[in-house]
Amino acid sequence: MPPRDYGRLKIFALPISCCVFALSSNAPIRIKTVCPRNCFDTCSIVATVQDGKITRIDGDPDHPITRGHLCAKGYSYLSRTYSPERLKYPLKRVGERGKGKMIRVSWDEAMGEIASRLKALRSKYGGETLIEYRYGGHRDIVAPLVAARFLNLFGATALGGTFCDASEYAGFLYTYGSLQSVPDEVWCEHTECIVIWGHRPETTHAHIVPFIFRAMERGAKLVVIDPIVTPLGSKADFCLQPRPGTDGALALGVANHILKINGEDSDFIRNHTFGFKEYKKLVDEWPVEKASKVTGVPKEGIQAVAKLIAEKDTIMQLGMGLNRYTNSHNAVRAIACLAGVTGNLGRPGACCYFLDKSADHFLTTNATRVSFPDGADIRRDRRLVCITGFNRAVLRARDPPIRAVICWRGNPMPQLMNVEDTKRALRRLDLLVVIDQFMTDTADYADFVLPACTFFEQYNLVPPYGHRYLQAAIPVIAPLHEARPDIDIWVELGRRVGFGNYFPEGWTWLDWARMIVPEGFPLESIINPAKPYRMPEDRRPEVPFKDGIFQTPSGKMEFVSNEIASYGKGKEGDWNPLPHYVEPDESPESRPDLKQRYPLIMISPLSPMRTH
Ligand code: SF4
Repeated sequence: MPPRDYGRLKIFALPISCCVFALSSNAPIRIKTVCPRNCFDTCSIVATVQDGKITRIDGDPDHPITRGHLCAKGYSYLSRTYSPERLKYPLKRVGERGKGKMIRVSWDEAMGEIASRLKALRSKYGGETLIEYRYGGHRDIVAPLVAARFLNLFGATALGGTFCDASEYAGFLYTYGSLQSVPDEVWCEHTECIVIWGHRPETTHAHIVPFIFRAMERGAKLVVIDPIVTPLGSKADFCLQPRPGTDGALALGVANHILKINGEDSDFIRNHTFGFKEYKKLVDEWPVEKASKVTGVPKEGIQAVAKLIAEKDTIMQLGMGLNRYTNSHNAVRAIACLAGVTGNLGRPGACCYFLDKSADHFLTTNATRVSFPDGADIRRDRRLVCITGFNRAVLRARDPPIRAVICWRGNPMPQLMNVEDTKRALRRLDLLVVIDQFMTDTADYADFVLPACTFFEQYNLVPPYGHRYLQAAIPVIAPLHEARPDIDIWVELGRRVGFGNYFPEGWTWLDWARMIVPEGFPLESIINPAKPYRMPEDRRPEVPFKDGIFQTPSGKMEFVSNEIASYGKGKEGDWNPLPHYVEPDESPESRPDLKQRYPLIMISPLSPMRTH
């Protein structure tokens, strides 16, 4: 393949492990790439590179949305990349599991032994004895599909689920049928009111803040709803502080007052919604006095916010905070219903959402071409483990037991609940492989630790979920030490375990990426970092729901979800089709016995140094 020419930097699309960076001079050059963290912003980055070393990183001022901003995490990548603590070469455990005693080995030795132990375990127990552990700190979509090809061919136990956003997804999907947003640069010129609910954009969604301020300069009101007064909350017209876990009750109280002041949009309700009568009956049970008592929010605050939402074109941006307690899918549904009852949907200044995954769906149109290769005999009904119960699944799995884990882009020790269970689970494995940039608590338990590249050293395709501009992360330096790109590791493992037919020699990242994206998609143009590529309108309308059509079973915005009720038939759990309120488990109200012993509620606002 000919070299790609980005000014003075030539990137040769050779096999990924052989990416070569040729600089025509030793003068510093500035190369654009993109941050792949699991974050709303997907910031475009300018790396200054001299003599093959990054000397500085800045935000890209030309990016239409992130506009030169990087957060503290983004700026810290320079020191992270060159940290003396980076893993430099493969390691093999020589001491007791958990003690982190390792010796240096070659890649050949590590991969050879990992492959032969995997093959032996597969012969003894079957493919489901292996499972990956991966979570989303790094949002590239290509390497996980190449890994999925390996894991599917192997017949591994599948990993599913999420720690972070399932409740909010469910809330929106069972109300609007999809999760779509109006772009920030559009609503900021139209909206009259912004409601930020359970979200701390200053640290987790920073690019939105200038758009909020732009709308406020135009006269838009700002409402922030959060148990604590956030920095943005201190600038809001109204800052409501519900008791943690009572957002659903607050939304029902707001709805009650909207109906009381006749603030509903009757035309929208009549033409575009389903189940209003039943919803109204539920809302009638939530006068503001009751909502105030349950949530701790003064009734005047509830009334004022209800009036604003009823009278003004309103954008409601929800955050991850709403995913963190039981019944939160119903809290999210109750909030989404506020936009329905006031007709705050389908206009440039009116929408309700938390994130927008259209880019993921668009870019992974042909994902199964990679993960389920043509001609391979792959069992589709394999065991599925939800990541939140990963440690217990490893401990309890029988027939076959789980004896091997490949852990990458994740760190189960701090991520999973019950660290003692996680330790027990890792101790009982026959093979634990950790692919990471640093030693971690999990790596201390590994049989092999393999050094991974940072995003400055490998290609990534990163769908944004906070804006519409696609940009590939291109490697700006060659891999440091003996680190390898993730794809290379999975491809080599595949070839060594015996799936060489499915991992063709000489394939580059571009070959895998081309298989995934839709036909006709200009992959090359997004790899040219000079200009991020805006998602096409036909895939992601600028103003969702403007035709009044929703992707629900009724085709309408659903106050009542019969789909929820039908899924729940015969099953335990809360399958109420209405967005009713239930106290969270272990709240001071639901567990007064615990309140005696633990009178305080702890919530943990996000650190600016963590994703989300
Ligand atoms: S973590 Fe998010 S805000 Fe920070 S640099 Fe990366 S994409 Fe931007």
